[in-house]
Amino acid sequence: MSSQLDFNHLKIAILGGGPGGYEAAMVAASLGAEVTIVENKGVGGSAVLTDVVPSKTLIATADTMVRVANAHTTGVQFDDPQAAWADLGQVNERLLKLAAEQSGDIADGLERAGVRILHGHGKLLEDHCIEVDTGTETETVQADAVLVSTGAHPRELPDAKPDGERIFNWTQVYNLNELPEKLIVVGSGVTGAEFASAYNGLGSHVTLVSSRDQVLPGEDADAAQVLEKTLQGRGLKLLARTRAQSVQRTDDGVRVFLNDGSTVDGTHCLLAVGAVPNTAGIGLEESGVALTDSGHIKVDGVSRTTAPNVYAAGDCTGVFALASIAAMQGRIAMAHLLGDIVKPLKLKQVASNIFTSPEIASVGVTEAEIASGQYQGDVVKLPLRTNPRAKMMNVEDGFVKVFSRRGSGTVIGGVVVGPRAAELIYPIALAVAQHLHVDDVANTVTVYPSLTGSISEAARRLHVRSS
Ligand SMILES: Cc1cc2nc3c(=O)[nH]c(=O)nc-3n(C[C@H](O)[C@H](O)[C@H](O)COP(=O)(O)OP(=O)(O)OC[C@H]3O[C@@H](n4cnc5c(N)ncnc54)[C@H](O)[C@@H]3O)c2cc1C
Repeated sequence: MSSQLDFNHLKIAILGGGPGGYEAAMVAASLGAEVTIVENKGVGGSAVLTDVVPSKTLIATADTMVRVANAHTTGVQFDDPQAAWADLGQVNERLLKLAAEQSGDIADGLERAGVRILHGHGKLLEDHCIEVDTGTETETVQADAVLVSTGAHPRELPDAKPDGERIFNWTQVYNLNELPEKLIVVGSGVTGAEFASAYNGLGSHVTLVSSRDQVLPGEDADAAQVLEKTLQGRGLKLLARTRAQSVQRTDDGVRVFLNDGSTVDGTHCLLAVGAVPNTAGIGLEESGVALTDSGHIKVDGVSRTTAPNVYAAGDCTGVFALASIAAMQGRIAMAHLLGDIVKPLKLKQVASNIFTSPEIASVGVTEAEIASGQYQGDVVKLPLRTNPRAKMMNVEDGFVKVFSRRGSGTVIGGVVVGPRAAELIYPIALAVAQHLHVDDVANTVTVYPSLTGSISEAARRLHVRSS
């Protein structure tokens, strides 16, 4: 329980209006609190304005291009096979418009719910107040409790400064009017892999610089292998186990200097080397909010920080850098603060997706955790190429994996690699969250033919015979 608060007309100040902040605001307002959101860019935050919405809209166009490029395999012929091209100016104009509209829709929803939106840069003061610099004046928002949801910003390398012309971070690429001819993507985590896949699909010559053995370090190794093979098959050049030391402009492009002494030239470079939490200089430590060594805010399972009645949600906490988790942390914080029913966040039930082509979705325990003995589990992997619907769609790569607890047969995790994996993971996520048995999944009739048929078949193969 939160300490010594009268729940009636509680005043809540939220610093940062991304998914962590605006979802919390909606919940708090519905529970009767008086809510002010302080936001310095636009509600929706980076998630809506620069990260999730624009990148996924770009990827939707790239997916269309990939389907067009593969159309001949299903009998569709174009008189001129080179006829399709992506007008990047138009693509970017569309995605920025979509992001602005989404931000506007969220602002309308908040205002309808009675939430006050204050535009400006906020700083936490003692006694749960926030000082806001609106650009023209300084206003202090008085509150009984605070939620910090300030997000994160792109990490920079000391010798590779983005200039927004040839060297970019992911917030800057939407200014491009023409497709980069030769794009070098530095960093093969989720963001780097998604952009490399997208620009490869749109028609750029992409070089991906990866410091690790596999792209998508930490993700399912088989999934990473499928992605590497598919992208390389589409012409992407992968430079593995090498680090970019610096990036410089040349007369007509960029040169990336690698740690083995070699260089790679391109027309543009996109840096995707991680994110830094927005926690510096906003009064957190002065107010008793403890930070980790990486600068993230320390929180517990119900989003409490170390300061009484100061909560935190989203990327500034470093719990799981997903918009869905930011939103859930924000909702949990407000339910806890306002004395509503609270279920702490369970990270092992979180479904996530990497929007590459093919997509990679996962939930729950990983195969690596089973292999290391951390979990006692059984694994079944089925390639999609044996699935009838996949054959009709000409899907050659990709697979479904389901993990069950050894002995009991409870579903504990899974991975899907294939088209629309983000949608296909849901039955496995549902099974994990509801502790369903593999027989529950296997005995649910699936559509024939369908890709989900492979999920139920994997579950069937994990059946535990009664003794
Ligand atoms: C390229 C990319 C693609 C992604 N795609 C996905 C995806 O497909 N699915 C998914 O779930 N996640 C995705 N993510 C992650 C997702 O964007 C983040 O997890 C999400 O934005 C976190 O939400 P948040 O509320 O913590 O922060 P944000 O969305 O960053 O919002 C925080 C807001 O607070 C504002 N702010 C910061 N400091 C202050 C201050 N002092 N005063 C006032 N305002 C302040 C910021 O300007 C910002 O608007 C992606 C990330 C990237 C980089």
